[in-house]
Amino acid sequence: MIIGVPKEIKNNENRVALTPAGVNEMKKHGHQVYVQSTAGEGSGFSDEAFAEAGANILATIEEVYGIAEMIIKVKEPIEFEYDLIREDQLLFTYFHFASYEPLTKAMIESKSVCLAYETVERGRGLPLLVPMSEVAGRMSIQEGAKYLEKPMQGRGILLGGVPGVKPAKVLVLGGGIVGYQSAKMAAGLGADVTIMDISLDRLRYLDDVMAANVTTMMSSEYNIRQEIKEADLVIGAVLIPGAKAPHLVTRDMLKDMKPGAVLVDVAVDQGGCIETCKPTTHADPIFIIDDVVHYCVANMPGAVPYTSTLALTNATLPYALELANKGWKKACQESSELKTGLNVVKGDVVYKAVAEAFDLPY
Ligand code: NAD
Repeated sequence: MIIGVPKEIKNNENRVALTPAGVNEMKKHGHQVYVQSTAGEGSGFSDEAFAEAGANILATIEEVYGIAEMIIKVKEPIEFEYDLIREDQLLFTYFHFASYEPLTKAMIESKSVCLAYETVERGRGLPLLVPMSEVAGRMSIQEGAKYLEKPMQGRGILLGGVPGVKPAKVLVLGGGIVGYQSAKMAAGLGADVTIMDISLDRLRYLDDVMAANVTTMMSSEYNIRQEIKEADLVIGAVLIPGAKAPHLVTRDMLKDMKPGAVLVDVAVDQGGCIETCKPTTHADPIFIIDDVVHYCVANMPGAVPYTSTLALTNATLPYALELANKGWKKACQESSELKTGLNVVKGDVVYKAVAEAFDLPY
């Protein structure tokens, strides 16, 4: 199959959908790969590295869309790309169709085949969303530690303390992928960590696998109110699938917190689980309310494109290979995981939630 990898053109998107290692795998299976010049630059992969792995480098995005049978991307196509997409072309990328009607309509009109990363399901999990939650979870502690420093407007406390000085207290709300990774990082740095969830099974699991400086606790308004008074750093990591995040930390709780404490609301992309959070950017990541620092960047993995690209492509490559080896029809017939990724096929919406979002036939 002929595979095309365009350069991402969405604002501040530095990831790339295939690495030189991925090109090498594709070549081994007899596929041809066309990569747009500088597509990997933001993630630290040069054109030379791609060429050495066997990719053909093309100067323009038009050439890549023009030649490829399958386009692999990271973010959804933006308006400029709509007219470049051809009938029957297979697109494998994040789409998030339900949040943007013009994109859905444009892809219906293009008569292409759109397989969305975010709806590929394995068991009850979403394997192509997990890597970005892992990145955001680990990063939340790095960012939290940074903004706890005095020059960054935090209360000036070191997460791990030092011999003779107590460590900081970290409260993690939600013990899923993000929460697990953040608790693990905070514990590794020596902090005194409490992790809350509403699933007793999940708490049992966390209790089994976490280090001794991590305590599990049932999530409830009462418990959060108690714990938040002592917390130096709070990580918001809850998710209720398909719904807005519940406001677990309410505005009135801030006055009970220590001045200079830090809130990192990773769940901000689903509305946030901290009432006072609103989305911020890497250029201007924090704001302060009631002496509490709020960090609410909606695309945290964007700040570490090297790691994020590798993490994402580790997860996407096996699926991309299957699509290239078998063609989308056979691959989706044989794999229920890939089948759940199909959203728009040659003019028809085939994913229920997308059809419902815009009252389209399904
Ligand atoms: P997940 O489904 O793995 O985990 C969510 C956890 O929240 C579950 O264990 C669930 O039981 C728990 N939960 C639900 N209600 C709760 C409550 N009231 N109290 C405590 N726990 C509760 O989800 P995840 O992959 O960890 O993602 C968490 C959030 O992070 C999502 O909103 C996701 O979109 C977001 N996210 C943001 C970024 C970013 O850059 N900001 C990046 C990746 C993920």
